[in-house]
Amino acid sequence: MEIIPSNRGGSKLCYQGYMYTKHATRKTNQWWKCVKRSSIGCRGNLSTTLQNENPVPGQPHNHAPSDTSIKYSKTRNAMKDLATNTRDKPSQIFAQVVSQCDDNVQALLPREENPKRTIRYQRPTPPVPATYADVRLPEEYTTTTNSSCNTTTARMQKTEC
Ligand SMILES: [Zn+2]
Repeated sequence: MEIIPSNRGGSKLCYQGYMYTKHATRKTNQWWKCVKRSSIGCRGNLSTTLQNENPVPGQPHNHAPSDTSIKYSKTRNAMKDLATNTRDKPSQIFAQVVSQCDDNVQALLPREENPKRTIRYQRPTPPVPATYADVRLPEEYTTTTNSSCNTTTARMQKTEC
């Protein structure tokens, strides 16, 4: 059993090829429901202790287990981690992560454009600078194609160029 972060900041529980999200917390245990509950009406569920241990399957699933979809979720998480913690371009992150995953996972990945969008959303928005001196631009934004404007200051005073 393994707990991984879900898309919306919660947790997903992976167990025997099925994925679950937390449904209810009781006094001595908590219930998790299958992630395919809304998409295909699966009623599969599972209980664990409050410490996320000792998984006990409850209702059966109406679909086969799939390690691939678990790996796929992890792949998406890996992209988000890289997007949050590095300055790599979305296309670099996508290429890097995709090169490391199985063929079956690659087959599940949407067109390149979608993960790129997912990656872009993870970029933290920098605070609004109080003065020009506080403006910190990434390297690639400090030069222009017009060499006479080739400093950050020049870019700030673009109207005078
Ligand atoms: Zn299910």
